[in-house]
Amino acid sequence: MLTVIKGGRVIDPGNLDGVMDIFIKDGKIVEIKTDGSADSGYPESKTIDASGKIVIPGLIDMHVHLREPGYEYKETIETGCRSAIAGGFTSVCCMPNTKPVNDCKAVTEFILTKGREAGTARVYPVAAISKGSTGEDLCEYGELRAAGAIAVSDDGNPVTNSRLMRKALEKAKEYQLPVISHCEDFNLAAGGVMNEGAVAAGMGLAGIPNVSESIMVLRDIALSELTGAAVHIAHVSTMESVRAIRDAKTRDVPVTAETAPHYFTLTDASVKGYNTNMKMNPPLRSSHDREAVRQGLADGTIDVIATDHAPHSSIEKSVEFHQAPFGIIGLETALSLGLNLVDEGILTLTSLIEKMSTNPARILGLENGLIVGQQADITIIDSEKPYRVNADTFKSLARNTPFDGWDLRGKTVLTMVGGKIVYQDQ
Ligand SMILES: [Zn+2]
Repeated sequence: MLTVIKGGRVIDPGNLDGVMDIFIKDGKIVEIKTDGSADSGYPESKTIDASGKIVIPGLIDMHVHLREPGYEYKETIETGCRSAIAGGFTSVCCMPNTKPVNDCKAVTEFILTKGREAGTARVYPVAAISKGSTGEDLCEYGELRAAGAIAVSDDGNPVTNSRLMRKALEKAKEYQLPVISHCEDFNLAAGGVMNEGAVAAGMGLAGIPNVSESIMVLRDIALSELTGAAVHIAHVSTMESVRAIRDAKTRDVPVTAETAPHYFTLTDASVKGYNTNMKMNPPLRSSHDREAVRQGLADGTIDVIATDHAPHSSIEKSVEFHQAPFGIIGLETALSLGLNLVDEGILTLTSLIEKMSTNPARILGLENGLIVGQQADITIIDSEKPYRVNADTFKSLARNTPFDGWDLRGKTVLTMVGGKIVYQDQ
């Protein structure tokens, strides 16, 4: 059967922007027309009225934690994917810090099988850089690539040994696996629970300095320059990191970077109430850092907005601030927080879509875009719709969001993966 998405404003960065009809058959886009001819000639078709809405390539979140295998009480692949499609994401890339760590073919295949069984968002496993993510021995990249891993990362842990990181970059390049780097100097960050600065001092909490991130960003840029291998910097939170990446890009070092909505929305001032849903790693930084991250998004230094969706159970988060685990969820609020940047004139709608779909696809080598012949991964959004965030209604198993009760604007209306409608807003 033919499906027609009719009358929406279709935006595919660098390709399309205008009111068009998209024709979908057998999971693929078969035609895109501007002349309203969807009215005739296709009697068997199912029509989705998208008038007044925006039709975009499905969002891709290149940094999520789905917690399965091993921590199914926090989130499962199925619940994480349901959260993803509710947020407009048609693809998610899941980090390897599960139990066991995704450092071998068996775990990668398990994740892919579970993802297929869930049957909603596409799940792309990110395998570990080192066995057990302990930073000692490299994983078998050829085997992981063949099994379906799309990148490698020891996320949650830095690769402290620079010699091992050099080898990882060289080896990963051979197998065309991008390396995603969690930049943190554990010795500098040791004991810290929030951003180092006046707020932490006032609260009597141990701080994590900006330099614990940027020193590793600078190292990874140096190693990328040495090896010619691409490195992607995860969750950029500091002014110094933005500066280092901007400078590296002017020298054509193959570095790319992501930040997360909380870093361009919140600051460490939000930690003042000791709300453990304001605790993540890297931590919320100063207003200068937030400004630098926004500037980095605006000028293209930061290529991607990813969520670093990190589910924890309410029991784990209902403890003293210094004891709570790091991490917050983000799949169901990311789009609205991104649209805030459009309202504020920091990004255009097109550049927001680039950062949430086109660029992650380019970095990871995934199929993407509203192009005839491509798989129909499509998100329809209402960019104006106001709503109040209610964590109790989240599809995620977790509730650890700092944005509960916030009034936001812009919602996913419909999510389609491979031509199949997997989510529709009620
Ligand atoms: Zn990380």
